Amino acid sequence: MKNSRPSEIVTCSPGETRRVGRGIGRMMAGGGVVGLTGDLGAGKTVIASGIFRGAGLPEGVAVTSPSFTIINMYPGRRPMYHVDLYRLSSAVEALEAGVAELWEGGDGSLVVVEWFEKFPEIRPPGYMAVTMDIVGQNERKLKFYYEGE
Ligand code: ADP
Ligand code: MG
Repeated sequence: MKNSRPSEIVTCSPGETRRVGRGIGRMMAGGGVVGLTGDLGAGKTVIASGIFRGAGLPEGVAVTSPSFTIINMYPGRRPMYHVDLYRLSSAVEALEAGVAELWEGGDGSLVVVEWFEKFPEIRPPGYMAVTMDIVGQNERKLKFYYEGE
């Protein structure tokens, strides 16, 4: 995939954000990295749940925030990893947690990362970037574009 121009959409409910996520998840079902950027409460965990569903995670498997676990793994035909960098204070800590190893994607894995912008030093070679802005109580402005290889 080549760099792409950003697409922009404003959602008016968590359900709508989840639906956008499902579309991204279908697009990324073959594996890759999705990097989510946005303030606390922007909807990163909400869109992550949509992305995993769109990529085939069964409804019965709950998607919960990995802010304490750092990495959640959902098993399946292709492994799915849900990462949250919020509580890490350095790129070294992220490396120690094994985050950068997930980029290798040899197993066709799908990796979704919250607070993706925190450690630019450990960015993967190619990723789908999603930025989320809070523009109202229930409105979120989403932008997404592919960056890198
Ligand atoms: P983050 O992971 O970015 O900190 P969460 O996904 O945990 O944020 O929480 C987003 C919060 O915002 C939830 O309480 C959700 O119900 C609320 N919300 C309101 N409107 C939207 C919207 N349009 N899209 C996503 N979340 C929304
Ligand atoms: Mg979150």
